[in-house]
Amino acid sequence: MSQCPGVSVENSQTESNVTPGSGGPPSASPVNVVLIGPPGSGKGTQAVRLAERYGIPHISTGEILRSAVRDGSELGRQVAEIMAKGSLVSDELMTDLVRARLKEPDVARGLVLDGYPRTVGQAQALDEMMGRAAMIVILIEVPDAEIVRRMGTRRVCDSCRLTQSVADAFHPDSEPCPYCGGNLVRRPDDEPETVRRRLATYAEYATPVIEHYRKRPTFAAVDGVQHADKVTLAMTAHIDRVARHA
Ligand code: AMP
Repeated sequence: MSQCPGVSVENSQTESNVTPGSGGPPSASPVNVVLIGPPGSGKGTQAVRLAERYGIPHISTGEILRSAVRDGSELGRQVAEIMAKGSLVSDELMTDLVRARLKEPDVARGLVLDGYPRTVGQAQALDEMMGRAAMIVILIEVPDAEIVRRMGTRRVCDSCRLTQSVADAFHPDSEPCPYCGGNLVRRPDDEPETVRRRLATYAEYATPVIEHYRKRPTFAAVDGVQHADKVTLAMTAHIDRVARHA
């Protein structure tokens, strides 16, 4: 298998996948992508791009939870404190949430999962939920020092919810969201102390999750330090290659 810049595909065979339904270019099959990577690795940005390119929903478990917290729902009340600490919500709750989301009709075309699975228990639950449907698992690799730097400049628009990077000399009052004019705010869990805890949590749980997928022919690791456009290119090249053989 040829290799694209920035992508290390760790397996050379191609899985013979059975996937029901329809999908985006270039394959007629659903495109099910699972993104793994530390907080701040660009999963959200890339997930939005992949969702648009393949015409599939972007499912961010973090965003589902944040929206529940904003709405003050029962789920939001249960998870607010856990999220503020940078800890993980229970496997049971997360799996119930994802299971319910995967029952929505839009998922028949495929999906981009961003933020789930985060533990081996969740990965096993996802295998069971997906059944024989193929999953393309992509790991975005970014060193901790780069994550800490990025999180310091990460803001989210409180109106359109787009995540953006701001200059070091950023003044929140004078620089509104360039897309919708909303306020750019720091996510509460992007505060430096919480970022450190989230990275520690990632370090603790991610390795076995990566090992769970690494041997699969549809797994790829992408260098997340390169420009976001190159990351997208590396990902779509991998996805298209896997989809061609599906
Ligand atoms: P994220 O936006 O993916 O970084 O998620 C923000 C926070 O939501 C995390 O720090 C966790 O507290 C919680 N969270 C999101 N997804 C999961 C998951 N799959 N398992 C456990 N906790 C999660």
